[in-house]
Amino acid sequence: MATHERKYVIIGNGVAGTTAAEVLRKNDPNCSVHLITNEPYPLYNRVSLPRFLQGKLQEQKVMIRDFAWHEQRNIQLVTETLVTSINTDERVVVADNGQHYPYDALLVATGGWANPLRVPGTQETQHIYNFVTLDDTKTIIARILESRTALAFGGSFISYELCDGFAMRKLDTIWLMRGPYWLRNALDPDGGEVVDNIAKKFGVEVIHGDEIEAVIPRDGVPSYVKTKKGRQIQTDMIGVGLGISLNTKILAGTAVEVHKGIVVNEYLETNVPGVYAAGDIAEFFDRTINRHHTMGTWDNALAHGKIAAINMAGGREPYIDVPTYTSPLFDVNIAVVGSAESGNPELEIIARREPGEKGNENYRRLFFRDNKLVGVLMIGSPKGRKKLVDLVKDQHVFATPAEREAVLTLR
Ligand SMILES: Cc1cc2nc3c(=O)[nH]c(=O)nc-3n(C[C@H](O)[C@H](O)[C@H](O)COP(=O)(O)OP(=O)(O)OC[C@H]3O[C@@H](n4cnc5c(N)ncnc54)[C@H](O)[C@@H]3O)c2cc1C
Repeated sequence: MATHERKYVIIGNGVAGTTAAEVLRKNDPNCSVHLITNEPYPLYNRVSLPRFLQGKLQEQKVMIRDFAWHEQRNIQLVTETLVTSINTDERVVVADNGQHYPYDALLVATGGWANPLRVPGTQETQHIYNFVTLDDTKTIIARILESRTALAFGGSFISYELCDGFAMRKLDTIWLMRGPYWLRNALDPDGGEVVDNIAKKFGVEVIHGDEIEAVIPRDGVPSYVKTKKGRQIQTDMIGVGLGISLNTKILAGTAVEVHKGIVVNEYLETNVPGVYAAGDIAEFFDRTINRHHTMGTWDNALAHGKIAAINMAGGREPYIDVPTYTSPLFDVNIAVVGSAESGNPELEIIARREPGEKGNENYRRLFFRDNKLVGVLMIGSPKGRKKLVDLVKDQHVFATPAEREAVLTLR
């Protein structure tokens, strides 16, 4: 560990950045830590935003840290400040408040911002919402309270969270998506139908294979939406879940390698000395699948923050973990473990659909590479999830088709 006073700068105070700040302080009482964010809040729980949206959780329960927590640890939290550039030769971060923040080691933990809807009419129309931040959530709730109808658009995780929120708040909800079924990169038509049936139980009308062509405003609010297939959908508000774009722009002009995200090795180091990346933004080398990829999950970001901080302070610890994503999906659960990609020709994929509880179905999809379980997608009951995570971690070999089939019913 470092013995002289080191300067650490962290861009982004999500779970990756805030965890890194905490670990740096624990490991080095004498260092300086600047944690910079464009948002006005200390760390809050993004995973809890859907339940806040649905009205099942109060705003204060969404907050994880307060300003005092940072003061007590001598972590300089700089809010409402956008980092605009980085000079990796001079080792300095430049922000829109005019300040320059010098660093010995820098962590970029900037996550991603939601892709907006770009069709004719959006510029002239209010009440079209992305759903990523606490402020997004507050604004959506305010509009829900004065609305009767809502449209959720997209085939991403965020689109179902929006749809779920609208339906739980008793709006007449339509869920419109381009693909033939939800989450088409990981599910198959059977899995898509299971999700549709759950949504329909909550009164949601699901429309596949169509998309918004234009928003037609009246007095600045959506009057109706015109779709490519010629539908006209009346709605008071539109929730948009069209994925996120990773915030890599601040690295423009540096030698830091950027692909989809910021490319880092298993120690979360970039190719430029002193610069690290963690969380959603990191395109990290994943030893469990032997290649680089990005992973947009809370647990992954938290673990990255910890490992990055250890290595920034002179340690040498690789990130080795099986990423997991769990979330409520209307009145059931969805869990994704490891690498669950339909389009990957290297994977053997098997699935099972069976009756579940509360009139829902259970659906399980397994992804094998070289007879080892590398990915799992479960909808419905979460029973058996922990055993499946362990099987992915252990790299257990399932030599015969019968052995692989048996994993479909493992509880
Ligand atoms: C609605 C919603 C529900 C989710 N549900 C789940 C779930 O159920 N399970 C799960 O595992 N994951 C879930 N996720 C994903 C999970 O929340 C993310 O993977 C995780 O929060 C990423 O953390 P992070 O620290 O990498 O980045 P972020 O939390 O995105 O934090 C990055 C921060 O950096 C700031 N920033 C960006 N650029 C700059 C800049 N130039 N200057 C200053 N600040 C900057 C951003 O504004 C942001 O505050 C959900 C996400 C959302 C939005």
